[in-house]
Parts: sequence; structure tokens; C-alpha cells
Amino acid sequence: MNKPLIVITGASSGFGAACARLFSSRGYPLLLLARRIERLQEMALPDTLCREVDVTDRAALDAAVREAEAKFGPADLIVNNAGQMLLGKLSEQDPAEWERMLDVNVKGVLNGIHAVLPGMLSRRHGTIINISSIAGRKTFPNHAAYCGTKFAVHAISENLREEVALQDVRVITIAPGAAETELLSHTTSEAIKDGYNVWKEQMGGVISAEDIAEAVRFAYEQPQNLCIREIVLAATRQE
Ligand code: NDP
Repeated sequence: MNKPLIVITGASSGFGAACARLFSSRGYPLLLLARRIERLQEMALPDTLCREVDVTDRAALDAAVREAEAKFGPADLIVNNAGQMLLGKLSEQDPAEWERMLDVNVKGVLNGIHAVLPGMLSRRHGTIINISSIAGRKTFPNHAAYCGTKFAVHAISENLREEVALQDVRVITIAPGAAETELLSHTTSEAIKDGYNVWKEQMGGVISAEDIAEAVRFAYEQPQNLCIREIVLAATRQE
């Protein structure tokens, strides 16, 4: 039987790219979204539509999902993964950075949900996986705005899960600890970046993007009547 369409936001690096490679290797058709479309295309995955979409643009996200569904059939999974981490102290940080994180990490997730939920509810089948963070369950120094966005992702996910449970749509939160990706590189404070890197070294290393992709796959490939509500995963030595 043909496998259903999977939509992945922020698929041009890190967790999103690892999810794309893993699901493609298992035969799923994909819609991959990010701003750097060349990075999506370079992966050259079969049965894959790549579109340059900023997740803050709800109309563009909707249009890309409709286009992929016309080609591959209804979306059965969206991985709302696109996110930015701009660490800083609220007293010092440029407000444009909180606004960007709120727009991408929170409204971007809502936009992804909006693009697939009506179809999933009408089919009474589908899965929404939101990538949060351990920073969505506990706080860390210099993370106030970022933690705020990730606590919001947990709240949105759990509330939506309750809202759609009786219509057989699953909502799952994945909360990774520190992992090796491009995420930290966008923080503007060199001192904070250096401190974060020292913390990772002292821990003896962090987990990989492939570890997160495997958690996403595991949660999704359970039978539809079983909803893994949340997975929290991190390096054993992360506190
Ligand atoms: P990366 O920086 O490697 O990847 C982030 C992805 O998000 C990129 O593909 C980027 O693509 C995309 N993205 C950023 N802004 C937008 C936007 N406005 N519209 C569309 N896509 C966007 O980081 P990770 O893989 O680590 O991050 C993935 C998710 O995991 C994020 O939500 C992050 O908060 C979360 N996370 C990461 C952890 C870590 O330690 N790495 C730990 C816990 C959670 P492009 O720039 O091409 O648009």
C-alpha cells in the first residue's frame, strides 16, 4: 500500500533534515518546507516536493500543503519543527529577537496545525507532532523568551490533543534536550554562545538530530489508536 504524505517544516537542517531522510528511507512521500529551498533540494529525496515557505506566512504554508496533497494525497503527519533559538537576557536583548521567536516558534506551529487539521478531522485520521524542547518544561539562564515559546508549544499541543481526541487525530509533543545542529549559531551574543558550548562539553557531548528523528518515527508509527503524548529525550548526562 502507498504510504501517506508527511509534511516537515524547517527541513533544511538539523532535526527536520534528519526526519526527512529517515521518513524518505521508509518510503513516505514528503513535503519539505524551509526558507533555504536549495538545502531542501540538495537532499534529492524521491517523491518529495520542496517549497520555499516561511512558516510565519500562513497562506504560503496552506498553499504548499494543498499542492502536495493534490500530488500525493492527504497529509497524514505534520512535523512542526521549524524554530529559532536566540538566547539573551531580556534586559539586553533586541525585542526583534523575541518577536521573531514568538512568530516562528509559536505562530508557525499554529500555522502548520491550521494547514492540516480540517482535513485530518474530516478523515478522522492524522497525526500532528510538535517539536518543543526541554526548555518547554524547565527554564535555563538566558532562555526567557525562548522558554516562553516552548512552554507555549507544550500548552498548545496538550490542549489541542484534548480538543481532537474524540475525532481520532493524535497530537504529540517531542521535547529534546541539547543536540548538535545549527540552532545555537543564530544567537547573537558570543559570550552566551561560548557559555552554551562549554556547558555541552562539560556534559560530555549531546544527542544527534538522528536521535530525534528516530523518536518522531517511533511516535508516528504506533497504531493510530495509540497516542504517545510526549517524548522527552536528552543526553544521559544532561541535568
Ligand atoms: P536548525 O537551526 O538546524 O534548524 C532549524 C530549521 O528551522 C531550519 O531548517 C530552518 O530553515 C527552519 N526555520 C527557521 N526559521 C524558519 C521560518 N521562519 N520559516 C521556515 N523555516 C524556518 O535547528 P534544530 O534542528 O536544532 O531545530 C529544530 C527544532 O528543534 C526547533 O524548533 C528547535 O527549537 C528545536 N530544538 C532544538 C534543540 C537543539 O539543541 N538543537 C533542542 C530542543 C529543541 P531555514 O533557515 O532554511 O528557513
